[in-house]
This record gives sequence, C-alpha cells and structure tokens, in this order.
Amino acid sequence: MAKNYWIGDIHKGNFDGQEVELKGWIYRTRGSNKIHFLVLRDSTGVIQCVIKRDSVGDESFDLIKSSLIESSIILKGLVEVTDREHGYEIQVNNIEIIGAVNPDRPFPITESAMLEAEGGESEFLLDNRHLYLRTSRMTTMLKIRSTIFGTIHSYFRNQDFIEYQAPNFVAGAVEGGSTLFEVPYFGKKAYLTQSWQLYAEAAMPALERLYTIAPSFRAEKSRTRRHLTEFWHAEMEVAWASNEEIMKYGEGVVRATAKNLLEEREVELNDLGRDLELIARYADSKYPIMRYDEAVEILQGKGIDIDWGQDLDYSKEKILTADFDVPHFLTHYPRIAKPFYHRPDPEDPKYVLCHDLLAPEGYGEIIGGGERTWSEEEILERIDEEGTPREPYEFYIDTRRYGGVPHGGFGLGVDRVCAWLAGADHIREVIPFPRDSRRVTP
Ligand code: ATP
Ligand code: MG
Repeated sequence: MAKNYWIGDIHKGNFDGQEVELKGWIYRTRGSNKIHFLVLRDSTGVIQCVIKRDSVGDESFDLIKSSLIESSIILKGLVEVTDREHGYEIQVNNIEIIGAVNPDRPFPITESAMLEAEGGESEFLLDNRHLYLRTSRMTTMLKIRSTIFGTIHSYFRNQDFIEYQAPNFVAGAVEGGSTLFEVPYFGKKAYLTQSWQLYAEAAMPALERLYTIAPSFRAEKSRTRRHLTEFWHAEMEVAWASNEEIMKYGEGVVRATAKNLLEEREVELNDLGRDLELIARYADSKYPIMRYDEAVEILQGKGIDIDWGQDLDYSKEKILTADFDVPHFLTHYPRIAKPFYHRPDPEDPKYVLCHDLLAPEGYGEIIGGGERTWSEEEILERIDEEGTPREPYEFYIDTRRYGGVPHGGFGLGVDRVCAWLAGADHIREVIPFPRDSRRVTP
C-alpha cells in the first residue's frame, strides 16, 4: 500500500524510488496522446506527474486527459529524481478523479487567466473570491497571515497575558459615531463593536494583563487602501503601565512578527518579492519616537497645510514616514484631537498620553494606543467636554469608582500589519473575504 504524503514532503524528503500516494488538484496539464504531464497542487506545493497510456490504461488516461484544471484527484506512483532543478516528479501508475470540474462553468481559475480576465478591474476577482483563494498569491498571503496571528498570540501568552473576549453587540462608540454600524436589536438599537477596549478595561482590575485578536467593525465610507469595514484587531490592556511601557509592547509585538515571518515564511516572502533585509531591519531595530508637535513642525516645514490640533490623516502620515526606514512612534497628540478615554498629560493637559505607530514604505498607522483616563473625576470631565452622553458609558465610568489605577493599552490592525509586511498594494489582498462599503459578497 502506497503511503499518502504532502507534496511539500516529497520535495523535502528522500523518497526516490518509493511508491507514494498524493491527493490534490490539477494545477496545469499538457501532453500527447501517449504521455500526459500533469502538475498536481496541494496546500504545500506543486509537483509534476507523468502519466503514460501504457501504465494507467486507456480508460484512466482518456479521463485524465479530458479533465479540467482544478479537478481533484488521487494518484499513486513512483518518486523519481529529475535532472531539472526542481528535484522530483512522479511516474504515475494509478489515478482516480474525485471531483470533476463542471465543464458548463469554464472558469479561468489559473492565476494568469484570472488576472487576464480581470482586465484592470479587480471586481472580477472579488466577485470570484471563493475561487481566487486557490491562486498561489492568495495562498501565500493566507500563510503569512496565519504566521502573524500565531505570533501575536504567542507574544502575549509568553508574557502571561490572558486572552479575553468582549461582546460584539454594544451600546456605545469607542471611535466616534460616524463609523458605527447600527443593528436592530429586539426593538432597540445596538451597534457592532469598534474595539474591545472599553470592556477590556472593565476586566483590567481582574486580570491586569489581557489581550485579544477579534474582529472590529467600522462603517468606513471612504474607500481607501487601508480600511475595511470588518477588520481583525489585536488589542491589549495592562494595569499600572505608562505610555512608554505600552509602547514597548507595541514595538515588541511588531518586531516579533517580523522576526517570526523571516523564520517561518522565508519562501513566501521571496515569492512575493519582499526584500528580506528590510524585514530583518523591522525585526532588529529600535523604533524612533517623535512628539506630535515635532511632526507638525516637519509637515509645516515641507509646506503642508496643517494646523496644530488637527489629527494626522493618511496623506500626512505618508509624508512623515517617507523619512524613516523603520516604524516610528508619534506621541502626545493634542487633547482636542482624541476621544475622551485618552488620559491628559499631567505635565501639560493640552496633550494626551498616547501613541500611534506608523509603518514605513508608505503604509502609515498600524497601532493606536496610550494611557486611559482612570479617575472618576477626570473621566466625567472628559466625557462632558466632548459632549458625549454618559448613559451608554455608565458601566465604564463605574469601574473608575472601584479602585481605579493607571493603565492603558493599544489596538493593532492585524490586516494592516499583514499588508505592510507582505508588501501588498491594498489591504484587501491579505484577507480572504474583504468587506468594504460596497461589498458583503461572496
Ligand atoms: P485610521 O485613522 O487609519 O482610520 P484609527 O485612528 O481610526 O485609524 P484606531 O482607532 O487607533 O485607528 O484603531 C487601532 C488600529 O486598528 C489602527 O492603528 C489600525 O491599524 C487598525 N484599524 C483601524 N481602523 C481600521 C479599518 N477600518 N480597517 C483596518 N484596520 C483598521
Ligand atoms: Mg479610523
């Protein structure tokens, strides 16, 4: 009985002359009436399989010869070293079609055919996302994405953070009303959560160090290359921590991510044409820190129209990041530019103790975080000055009445980090089924 293997194992291991069984999908085919060359694909790679009419018999040979790309098959054969640099091929002696491709739906599922059919408009690829997932570029992105999720989990767990879940139906906004998704809720209104933060702060006195990776929802109307309406948000909250200490975690998790990618996904990074030295620099460097005021001066010095007190949008982040070749922090934004939960700087309450981390290569903000307003008096003052109703935040204010302590945390856009480290042009490229203002299908 031939043992079943992954294609990746055949290329790695020494199976020369052995009989193996492989399961997968037809990736490419060509051949004559006597000999057929089939490239088989599974989740670990591709391998050439040689099918001779004489070895498999007329019936199997004719069936496989007429099979379309992406048909699923099981085959058995002998592993042979080829003289080509790619190493191994299979001399097939038995082949079985498991799932045929419907010939009434002659869909161009090869990568090049899909890109050709796209004809400059990616709506085609998005409409057929369920099939595009099988292309090598998308598969590569999904593997990189998996490594990034795994690294974030281990980074926090290795430092004794507790993974903690917050509700996704909520009553109040974190990031402001304009991007809230409203959902009918049994005769009342609820919203989809924009962030785990407020509910994590409630658990801060219980767990002290907590994190999550969960979806956040924001009704981003403008379509940009870095906004989704449903994105994956890695968030953390720590008791007793200062803005500087929180930034160390932010730098730590991003550096660990770059490092792990180099270790686990070198092949995939190379396939995407990424410069590994660049990724190594993101893994090894210290990330510089700059205050908001300095950033405004730099921008004004470059002739950009910006007033002190304005938040920095993407166009400004892009100009700032042009001068850096590693991520860098911006800290101490003006109080008037930030929501009520940001803690005013006791040394100068015009500012808040916050930070954004901006990624280079034109990617911009990947992390937003800082210290939280933690005394009852100050949180009420901040909510009232912002004109925010107290009612939906009663539970949040109440946590300040029971032994409040300094604390803070950050939110990291996981899809944005994936896009940056993979060198993707658009955030859509790194998530299987992207959601934006125009699309909830497929
Ligand atoms: P931006 O100004 O770019 O919209 P933000 O200031 O609204 O970002 P935060 O509220 O600080 O972002 O959220 C924390 C992190 O979550 C951001 O740094 C970013 O990486 C990510 N993020 C925020 N909104 C989105 C979105 N719509 N799509 C993907 N990632 C997002
Ligand atoms: Mg936003």
